[in-house]
Amino acid sequence: MTEVIYDFTGNPFVDGGIWALSQLVGKKPGELNKDDLETVIDEVVSLYLTPKWSKNLYQIFPNNPITNNAVKDKKERYSLILIDLINNITNLGDYGDCIACGRRNVVHKSAKDKIPLTGSKKLINYFSYGSEGADYCPACIFAVQFLPLVTYFCANMLLIHSNSDKIMHHWSERAITNIHSQIASNNYTGCLNEGFKNPKNALFHIIQNIILHYDERWYLEKPSIDFYHFTNFNQGPNLVLYPVPTQVFRFLAYIPQHEKFTDWLRIVRRGYKFVDWEKVKEENEYKNNPNNVYERLLSGKSIIRFFIDRKNREALGGWDLLEHYLEEVRDMDEKRIEAIKKVGDELAEYIRSSDDIKTLKKLEMANNYRNYRNILRIVIKKRIENGADEPLFSFDDYVKNLFPEGNLTWRETQDLILFRIYEVLHDWIIQQGVSEELIVNEDEEEVVEDV
Ligand SMILES: [Zn+2]
Repeated sequence: MTEVIYDFTGNPFVDGGIWALSQLVGKKPGELNKDDLETVIDEVVSLYLTPKWSKNLYQIFPNNPITNNAVKDKKERYSLILIDLINNITNLGDYGDCIACGRRNVVHKSAKDKIPLTGSKKLINYFSYGSEGADYCPACIFAVQFLPLVTYFCANMLLIHSNSDKIMHHWSERAITNIHSQIASNNYTGCLNEGFKNPKNALFHIIQNIILHYDERWYLEKPSIDFYHFTNFNQGPNLVLYPVPTQVFRFLAYIPQHEKFTDWLRIVRRGYKFVDWEKVKEENEYKNNPNNVYERLLSGKSIIRFFIDRKNREALGGWDLLEHYLEEVRDMDEKRIEAIKKVGDELAEYIRSSDDIKTLKKLEMANNYRNYRNILRIVIKKRIENGADEPLFSFDDYVKNLFPEGNLTWRETQDLILFRIYEVLHDWIIQQGVSEELIVNEDEEEVVEDV
């Protein structure tokens, strides 16, 4: 048997509690001993008894001594429970029947007054298999009692769980620092709360905060990150899981060092729905609105179109940032990206040299694959007439890189080409005037056979 009490379990409630304990005591998780655990009880129970904290606790541990109105001597009762748990803690073994650590045995089953989203004791119809509760060992139960310290208030409670020690360390450090300042100022505001009610927006805010405020080589990390948005409230316990794709984290970690970081902030702003930007005065007015950029990043959908401001014919973020997104998040082949960029460059050059804004409009307005190929075909013919040395693209490029899945990917190619044209023609477009109508008349459409 080792001399170690805590190692990470993969259970988000237990691991969150271990990180909270580690920060409170100021030791690495694996170094915590029973004496350390005893030293934090008084401070934390007193904190939980303050009005805002006890209100938050209703969503985490309903019916425990703090949240059970029938209990009078709350502090004493809850402290005794914690001390009793410590007395029953054993060091990590090789095996055991605890469902969190699997390395120690269960003494009593735990219900939702101790572990969120578990059983209701005698009200067995609320938990699977009619069990009265879940099998957690005393050490894991003890850790979970400190979970509220690293939980973020967002209508329900939001919990971050990652296999990256750096992420968990910084997050728990931030949460415990906040608690210390609540204690120092005698102003108890409950779990970390920044006015977010929308969990998706909150989790991007949390990730960005960690990336920006802690100087780590984040691009070397490949963390798995999950956010648990839960409530253990008596009337309607609930849990929604938000996994953050590793590639999305790596992309977000890359952006702040990029020269176009402020463009990225504009791209994110364009994702908010139902916002009248003319009237907005502060972030609070829109920060809980659904954000398409965040939602699409979480669900693995493309955000290319948010890089393109079609109304002002502007390419936000520049090709370099977009390219990074395509490679890192969309896993797009480098050759395809290069081919699309080259065609975008050639088209831009053609449009500028022949002063042909009509072609630009047509590239913008094409609404099916056939129509789009026809426009490219016309440009190919005109370029040849103008004496161009090289074709617009090779047959190989066409098949493999520009439209690899034909009808399925042509919109993506259209958007990327347009982005590149806007970027290259930035000054020329300003000269043309951005108020230029995008509408192309039907009779201006030229129909030729397919390429
Ligand atoms: Zn355990």
